[in-house]
Amino acid sequence: MKIAFFSTRSYDREYFDRANEQARHHLWYTEALLREETASLAQGYEAVCLFVNDRVTAAVAEKLAAAGVRLIALRCAGYNQVDLAATDRHGLTVVRVPAYSPHAVAEHTVALILALNRKTHRAYNRVREGNFALENLMGFDLYGKTVGVVGTGKIGKVFAQIMMGFGCRVLGYDPFPDAELTAAGVDYVSLEDLLKRSDIVSLHCPLTETTYRLINADNLHLMRRGAMLINTGRGALIDTQAVVQALKSGHLGYLGLDVYEQEEGLFFYDFSHEIIQDDLIARLMTFPNVLITSHQAFFTHEAMTEIAHTTLQNVTAFEQGLPLENVVRRGT
Ligand code: NAD
Repeated sequence: MKIAFFSTRSYDREYFDRANEQARHHLWYTEALLREETASLAQGYEAVCLFVNDRVTAAVAEKLAAAGVRLIALRCAGYNQVDLAATDRHGLTVVRVPAYSPHAVAEHTVALILALNRKTHRAYNRVREGNFALENLMGFDLYGKTVGVVGTGKIGKVFAQIMMGFGCRVLGYDPFPDAELTAAGVDYVSLEDLLKRSDIVSLHCPLTETTYRLINADNLHLMRRGAMLINTGRGALIDTQAVVQALKSGHLGYLGLDVYEQEEGLFFYDFSHEIIQDDLIARLMTFPNVLITSHQAFFTHEAMTEIAHTTLQNVTAFEQGLPLENVVRRGT
């Protein structure tokens, strides 16, 4: 099948070309983000392959369908970037990669927590400059602390299990509690309770209308003074302005982000020789107790291998009229 890949980087090409040695589809790559202005690049392709910051709005869905596209193959788990009502109207099928490596994201979440707590990022720079002093590098034991996990699906569950390994008490908030986690000692509580009782709060639920800015000015004050907030889910799960205020007042003790509401056009690109125009992220980067990574939690060899393999399998199944295991919406 002819597939147009949007917002690709060198590593996408490397892993997809390798996976395609068996699948043998026709792959065409562009670095362009999918937008109304770039949708015509898909002319003549039956499928488009998209990542987290490509957008399928109603106008884009119309253009893709007019260009001859029948399949939208997301090379990610989340599908909040697709207007499903619009893809339905244009008979487009949407598939995704629901699980590639929950371990990759859960482990990166732990990396953020450990770095923030033990200030590893600061210690690294200090020692390289010949400064071996320990002042202001004080951390706390994770053992015995309470960790709140918002969304205990595939990633949240692995994360909860890792944190239990540290000797943490784990609280969960999820409309569908996990029986195995409950049996392992995870307490499911209300969001309010979780925020009040946790030393560390980590977000692992999908971005939907109900989870949009789930953490905001109305509930940030419920968190313990000095607590840590980690978001590796989606940027818009938190109200970033409200979080900046909580950091400025000292109420929020630490912030670890792998996702950011305005990350489109910023994350995945090198702006090291340019002036960053986004004042909000610029402000966030000034805090000593904030650690930001550029949506890299998924970025492991195992996850990329699985993403490429499953995406091409999804396309092959669609092409051959086989059952679509990873379908989000079936077109007509
Ligand atoms: P999943 O579907 O397995 O789990 C999501 C869980 O969230 C489910 O248990 C669901 O019941 C729960 N949930 C739904 N609505 C909720 C709400 N209002 N409050 C609390 N919980 C709620 O998904 P997953 O594979 O664990 O991925 C979770 C999210 O992580 C994805 O939606 C995606 O946005 C994000 N993600 C980020 C990266 C990254 O690189 N940073 C990579 C993959 C996924």
